[in-house]
Amino acid sequence: MIALVTGGNRGIGREVCRALAGLGHTVLLTARSPEAAERAAGELDGDVVPLRLDVTSADDVAAAAATVAERYGRLDALVNNAAITYDTWQGAVSADLDVVREAAETNLYGPWRLTQALLPLLRGSAHPRIVNVSSEAASLTNMGGGTPAYNSTKVALNALTRMLAAELRGDGVLVNAICPGWVATEMGGPGGRPVSAGAAGVVWAATLPDDGPTGGFFRDGRPLPW
Ligand code: NDP
Repeated sequence: MIALVTGGNRGIGREVCRALAGLGHTVLLTARSPEAAERAAGELDGDVVPLRLDVTSADDVAAAAATVAERYGRLDALVNNAAITYDTWQGAVSADLDVVREAAETNLYGPWRLTQALLPLLRGSAHPRIVNVSSEAASLTNMGGGTPAYNSTKVALNALTRMLAAELRGDGVLVNAICPGWVATEMGGPGGRPVSAGAAGVVWAATLPDDGPTGGFFRDGRPLPW
């Protein structure tokens, strides 16, 4: 399998790269800093290929798609992991909309843009999978105050997941939103579970069998309420 992971240089993304490579898959470890991508890929065992990719850059996205097309001619799994702005310091009432807009560029338009660019390559796969790394914070059943930029962009990512799953069902592309749980990373802070536990559910969705679910929202392989 050929998999591409965004934000693969640290946190959950890096662990997803490590785990997929450990299963024998070829992993394009992408990061917005080419040096960070090189460094992280160099630290992992297996077939891990570093690639520069800032998901907010249309040029980077086009270049990444061209590289995958040229080297492999197809893509089997796209893991939209990169995200920013766990904005605990504000509520929706007083949210700075520039912060919300900036978060949307990475958390929503990034995965959307990348999916559009890579879809021809995913259609070339016999077992195409798209994994949108979301958060239980995006569940409408769980929508309290706080983190408005993060929550609203992840809610929109969940909506995108549903739309893509419906539109791509006929092509055999399985598209799911995954919450990794509270994980001890730079974003999650101390106290969360280890990255291996958070990454496991993402890897599960990237390696689903052909009769696996699509259009779902899961943590640890179990459904979450939208
Ligand atoms: P981190 O903050 O530890 O890592 C985020 C990653 O995203 C970094 O590699 C960062 O790169 C990258 N990134 C940010 N902006 C861009 C961009 N424009 N282009 C490419 N890469 C970018 O986060 P986590 O590992 O904790 O989170 C991973 C995913 O899991 C996210 O989608 C997050 O929302 C989700 N999640 C995390 C939870 C947690 O408790 N940790 C809980 C629920 C969901 P750089 O190093 O350059 O900044």
